[in-house]
Amino acid sequence: METRVLKVDSIEKDYNNIIEAARVIKAGDVVAIPTETVYGLAGSIFNEEAIKKIFIAKGRPQDNPLIAHISSIEQVDEICSEFPEKAKELAKKFWPGPLTIILKRKSCVSDTVTAGLDTVAVRFPSHPVANAIIKEVGEPLVAPSANLSGKPSTTSAKHCVKDLNGRVPLIIDGGDCEFGLESTIIDATSDPMVILRLGAIPVEELLEVVPDLVYEEELTKTGENEIPKAPGMKYRHYAPNAPVTVVTGEPYKTAEWIANNSNKDDGIICFEEYASLFTEHNFVLNFGSYSNLQSNANRLFRLLREFDETDVKKIFVQCPMNKKIGKAIINRLQKAAGGNIIEIDN
Ligand code: AMP
Ligand code: MG
Repeated sequence: METRVLKVDSIEKDYNNIIEAARVIKAGDVVAIPTETVYGLAGSIFNEEAIKKIFIAKGRPQDNPLIAHISSIEQVDEICSEFPEKAKELAKKFWPGPLTIILKRKSCVSDTVTAGLDTVAVRFPSHPVANAIIKEVGEPLVAPSANLSGKPSTTSAKHCVKDLNGRVPLIIDGGDCEFGLESTIIDATSDPMVILRLGAIPVEELLEVVPDLVYEEELTKTGENEIPKAPGMKYRHYAPNAPVTVVTGEPYKTAEWIANNSNKDDGIICFEEYASLFTEHNFVLNFGSYSNLQSNANRLFRLLREFDETDVKKIFVQCPMNKKIGKAIINRLQKAAGGNIIEIDN
């Protein structure tokens, strides 16, 4: 299959490419589209053939449900049978934006989308290109991250091409993603509501709106024998080719430890403050400043993927701060590292 890449720099100027993306989706095919979190592989939620194509293109396990993407709050009613008041409050505050809310599904949403659950995950993206494409199609789209299953999510069209060239007919290039991390997922079918996946909206911000929100650190673990609360959590995720070691602790200590325990051909992701410790190393990538979690989040998947272009045998990563969006970054790093974490005592 030939994969076309079409650019959308400005919605007005490039609207013909929005129309083309919508045409392909309405014809039952799939299109990689930019969102503010990561790129998504979008297809119509009501087209079973399109949904099957998404699973095939990604190599995604069938029991991992998809998130429905909408372009107005009213669209929730098309696919959900209940929209509790507390969930509405969250939606009003965080939509459009990187928050996914789990609600009771209507029967028009198939088992293929929800992996047989009686709930559906819903998100209203803020990215103008995603928004315009959903509007132009006229119905909700399902859009898991546009990467091969198990690999880091894609945050640029270039990385979509790497994973999906020849596997999808169209990629819409809308530039780099703003957040670079997937949405935060909240289950609004339980009382109190529960955070199922850490993500681009920090827990601290959600607690301001829903003080009784439950967030269990254990939910984010991925041990082989644990029963995952959200489907999809049991799978290996976000992994580049070379094994990843995450080093946690005070940043000057983790930098020192990595400098002393790596060799010069290993891949290093370090905070810019510590770059001077790695002048002898050949593959050093800049995680941004230790004090800038947003820049760490934004770079994480891009940097992990850059090592796939090299033949580094090991990757070492300095762990960011364990607060706000740093918690979500650490969650992704833990999965990328498959539990390979070194703790430096403070
Ligand atoms: P992604 O592949 O990055 O789009 O992530 C989709 C994730 O959303 C899945 O792996 C699940 O963890 C979660 N998810 C989707 N639908 C549901 C649902 N109905 N209930 C619980 N979690 C869900
Ligand atoms: Mg994904």
